[in-house]
Amino acid sequence: MKMIQTAEAMQSEADEARRAGRRLALVPTMGALHDGHCALVRRAKKEADHVTVSIFVNPAQFGPGEDLDAYPRDLDGDLDTLETLGGVDVVFAPPAEEMYPLGAPQAWVEVEGLVDTLNGPHRPGHFRGVTTVVTKLFHLCRPHVGVFGEKDAQQFVILRRMTEELHFGVEIAGVPTQREADGLACSSRNEYLSQEERAQAPVLAEAVCAAHGLIAGTTEEQPAEAVVGQMRDALAEAPLAEPQYVAVVGARDLQPVETIAPGQDVLAAMAVFFGDTRLIDNAFVTAGSQEEAEKGER
Ligand code: AMP
Repeated sequence: MKMIQTAEAMQSEADEARRAGRRLALVPTMGALHDGHCALVRRAKKEADHVTVSIFVNPAQFGPGEDLDAYPRDLDGDLDTLETLGGVDVVFAPPAEEMYPLGAPQAWVEVEGLVDTLNGPHRPGHFRGVTTVVTKLFHLCRPHVGVFGEKDAQQFVILRRMTEELHFGVEIAGVPTQREADGLACSSRNEYLSQEERAQAPVLAEAVCAAHGLIAGTTEEQPAEAVVGQMRDALAEAPLAEPQYVAVVGARDLQPVETIAPGQDVLAAMAVFFGDTRLIDNAFVTAGSQEEAEKGER
């Protein structure tokens, strides 16, 4: 496993691997690696025969007052995790000056529309920070495939749109959300939770599960508000949970839906504060898929 910290060395490595006919995968991360990241690496190993994991806490995607300084950093621990996992060719861990020599980006990549719902209005500028850094990482690591988690569902949809619309020639592979034994989605931010908050945090997964059941069980058109109501009821079971948004939107356009009809692909999503810690969870569901699955079994 090679450690690379400069843009130039990364591009040379990628060019050489491409010239040797290898298929390259990139797994972009901000480090503090957990089982979710490991699942992405395992997928990358299936997709390609040259795997780069980038570790970069990207200042451009944090808003003022967000947790940039507090964000957990543990490069040594991350390198151990990746060594143990095996099959990683390169760890690309550039310092911020290498990625942003002028201090802050002066060239941005932005996707419109998809950023106006869910997390977008609550984290102004966040997604343009993400699309900009992923563009830079793609240009430096030159992957054939980029591997991302569906846990960050909105980010996933935005990145797919970016790569398609701007003809990046990079495939976007999605990995289902990995969870702790009690259902809580793995996240580097779970480290911020107090013991009491941690005990109540699985309520997000319960709300997602409730939404999944209702949507997958759709046999006739139903108001999305009914699903949102059930999600909110599930969250209300945790006294420390303060929902920021709870929504059902179209899976591709991320626009709010009023009704859910069998066959429709939707995303049930939420952001919830526990104290200062903001957690998200969500699920892509095809309405009526449960009914279809049962028909198949009959
Ligand atoms: P981060 O380090 O939080 O920027 O995440 C890096 C990548 O890991 C992103 O593509 C995330 O969507 C993905 N990821 C984070 N948590 C999970 C999880 N619990 N399951 C699957 N993927 C995840």
